[in-house]
Amino acid sequence: MAGRLEGKIALITGGARGQGAEEGRLFTAHGATVILTDVLDEQGERTAAEIEGVTYRHLDVRSESEWEAVVGEVMAEHGRLDVLVNNAGIDLVKKLAATSLEEFERVVSINQTGTFLGMRTVANAMISAGKPSSIVNISSVAGLEGVANHGAYSGTKFAVTGMTKAAAKEWGKHGIRVNSVHPGLIETPMTEDLRPFRDADVRAKAERSIPLQRIGQSIDIANMVLFLAGDESSYCTGQAFTVDGGVHP
Ligand code: NAD
Repeated sequence: MAGRLEGKIALITGGARGQGAEEGRLFTAHGATVILTDVLDEQGERTAAEIEGVTYRHLDVRSESEWEAVVGEVMAEHGRLDVLVNNAGIDLVKKLAATSLEEFERVVSINQTGTFLGMRTVANAMISAGKPSSIVNISSVAGLEGVANHGAYSGTKFAVTGMTKAAAKEWGKHGIRVNSVHPGLIETPMTEDLRPFRDADVRAKAERSIPLQRIGQSIDIANMVLFLAGDESSYCTGQAFTVDGGVHP
């Protein structure tokens, strides 16, 4: 069904590739005006050029001033921002006891602080515009259950889950819905070095362990994000939506 985001203005972080780019494609197909942002500027420009009507802006989610500048530009051009997808994130495959403070703080600054800055900057703009709006935070199944060898990552994704629920309670009265999405293993550039993507036997074994018998693709996540961005989910807020083929029932 086309047009589920007709006329909406949507900003997606980490949109140069992977799930963010897929959400940009799907949102545009459903009538949204999409602003993709990332730090991978060449790739972001290329991705935006492939999708008609999409614009690309540099935005390092760790930077308060860059958030202010990009959201200010969107508000000046469109007068409102209806949808924010806090998708940018990095993984760190490392045992906690071997993780340096620098490595830990880098993961926190992008996954957790970046999501906080995005929610805060955009919520203030959404409140001033006074329209129903939606924030979708991309957490992980690692934001619902501790995952060994991903301790720093898991901690930040739990933080995203918690901030989502708190923000939903604070901003519901302004018509701002805030939900989190929790992908399982998804085939994107982030995961290409993991063993299931380097070894066919490991992949086959991994797929057999998933109730739906396959590894997820970006479109599986984009479809959930589309639902949460649009008006069909207008009575959902503060919720955690898992998309993992049934591993975490
Ligand atoms: P990806 O690596 O393809 O995409 C992540 C994007 O975030 C990249 O384009 C990257 O450049 C961008 N990014 C990194 N640091 C940034 C910064 N400081 N500012 C702005 N952008 C920055 O990976 P993906 O799988 O598409 O990941 C999207 C989201 O999904 C992430 O939050 C990730 O943690 C989450 N997730 C992924 C999986 C998976 O299996 N792929 C599982 C659970 C959750």
